[in-house]
Amino acid sequence: MLALDDTIAAISTPLGEGGIGIVRMSGADALGIVRGFFVPGRYAALPATPPTFVPHRLTYGHVVDPTTDKAVDEVLIAYMPAPYTYTRQDVVEINCHGGVVPLRRVLELCLRAGARLAEPGEFTLRAFLNGRIDLAQAEAVLGIVQARTEAGLRLAIDQLDGRLSQEIRQVRAELVDLLAWLEAAIDFAEDEVPERDVGPDLQVVRERLEQLLASADQGIIYRHGLRTAIVGRPNVGKSSLLNALLRTSRAIVTPIPGTTRDTLEETLNLRGVPLVLVDTAGIRAASDDLVERLGIERSQAALATADLALLVVDGSEPLTTADRDIAALVGDKTALVVVNKNDLPAATEAQDLLPPCPHLHVSALTGQGLEALEAAIVETIFAGQVIASDALLVSSPRHKEAIGRALDHVAAAQDTLAQGLPADFVSIDVTGAVNALGEVTGETAHEDMLAAIFGRFCVGK
Ligand code: GDP
Repeated sequence: MLALDDTIAAISTPLGEGGIGIVRMSGADALGIVRGFFVPGRYAALPATPPTFVPHRLTYGHVVDPTTDKAVDEVLIAYMPAPYTYTRQDVVEINCHGGVVPLRRVLELCLRAGARLAEPGEFTLRAFLNGRIDLAQAEAVLGIVQARTEAGLRLAIDQLDGRLSQEIRQVRAELVDLLAWLEAAIDFAEDEVPERDVGPDLQVVRERLEQLLASADQGIIYRHGLRTAIVGRPNVGKSSLLNALLRTSRAIVTPIPGTTRDTLEETLNLRGVPLVLVDTAGIRAASDDLVERLGIERSQAALATADLALLVVDGSEPLTTADRDIAALVGDKTALVVVNKNDLPAATEAQDLLPPCPHLHVSALTGQGLEALEAAIVETIFAGQVIASDALLVSSPRHKEAIGRALDHVAAAQDTLAQGLPADFVSIDVTGAVNALGEVTGETAHEDMLAAIFGRFCVGK
C-alpha cells in the first residue's frame, strides 16, 4: 500500500443515486488514461489524436468506451497537474452523472487502461507520504467527513489546518534540542560542552504536554461523541424523554454505523455535544414479570458499552425493586437520575437512588425541566471544566495515548535527573518522548500504524 509509482483510481463520492458522482485518479498515468477514452464536446467517435486539457479548467465532453465507441456518460473533466494537488501527483477527476452504473463503468475504463483500484484512504495516504500533509492532518480529513456536530467539525478543521501539528512539532523540537545537548554531554568532556541546566526546560515541556492532555477528554467527546444509555424499567418514560430531547436540542440525528455491533446508532446533538445513543428500545412482553426482567437485561447490555447513563424513574410511583436493580447496574458510571412525570403528583422517594449523581425532575410530556437536564448533562460530562471555544483541543484517542506516553517519558527523565544519574539515562527517556510525539505527526510512524489509520477511511478518500 505504500507504493507511490502506480496510478490509482476510485469512485470518490458516496455510492447511490446522486446528481453527480466523481471518479478520481492519481498518478503519472492519470492524464494518459483519460485521454484514451474522452471526446471533448458533443458525443462522437474517439478522435485519432487524443484531446488535451487545460490544467485547473473543467473540460466538457463524453466518456466513450474505446472497444465499442459507445458513449458511457456525459462528463466534466478536471485535470490538475503535479505538484499542487491533493496527492502532489497528477490528479484527474471525472465528474459523471451520479448513478451507480455510469460511475462503475467509468471506473472500469480507468482500471482497464492501467489504473489500480485505490485502497481505503489511499489518496490521503499519498498526500501524507508525499509530504503535503502530516499524519495528524491526514486523520483530520477523516474527522471532517465524520463530524457529528459543528464543534466536532471545527476541531477537525483546526487539526487539518495544522494547529495541533504545530504545537506538537514545537514541543518535539525543544526535546530534540535537549537531546542534542545530552548526547554532546555524553560524548565530550565537560569543558567542551557549554553548561546547561536541562531541568527547567523539561519542566516547560512537561507543562505544555499536560495542558494538551487535559484538553483531550473534552476534545474526544466533541469529535467522537459520548456513548449514552437511557436506562430504566419499562413505562417510566424513556422513549418519551428521548423524543423530548430530540425536539429541544435542534437535533441533527445522524444514523452512523455502530462501532461494536451491526446496528445504526443515533446521535443526539445536545448543545454541541454529540451523544451517541445506545439502543434500549422496544421492550414489550406478555407478563409484567417478564417485562421487568427484560428491562433489566436491556439496561445491562446498554450500560456495558456506555460512558454516560441517564437513569429514568417514574416520579409519580413508588420506587420498585426493578428501579433499584437497574440503579445498582449503573454502579459508579457517570450518571444522572431523571425523575420523570413531574406533571403528576409526586410519589417517589428517588432521592436515595445513586446518591452522588445529580437528580433532575422533568416531565417528558410537558417539557418541564428539560433545559435544566440538558445543562446538567453537559456540566456532568465536562465535570464543570470550561475550555475556551478557540482553545487547541486534542481530539483523537490515538493522539491522547501518544502524548500521554511522551509525558510519562518526560516525567521519568525529570526523575532520573533529580536522582543525579548520568546524561545517558536522561537521554533514553527524552528519546522516548521525541519518538512518541513523532507518532502524532507521523515522523516516527510505522507501516502497520499507517495501515490501521488509513484503513478506517472509505475507498476514494
Ligand atoms: P418507556 O417504556 O420507558 O420508553 O416509557 P414510554 O416513553 O413509552 O412512556 C410510558 C408511558 O408514560 C406513556 O404512556 C407515556 O405517555 C407516559 N409518560 C412518559 N413521560 C411522561 C410524563 O412526563 N408525564 C406523564 N404524565 N406521562 C408520561
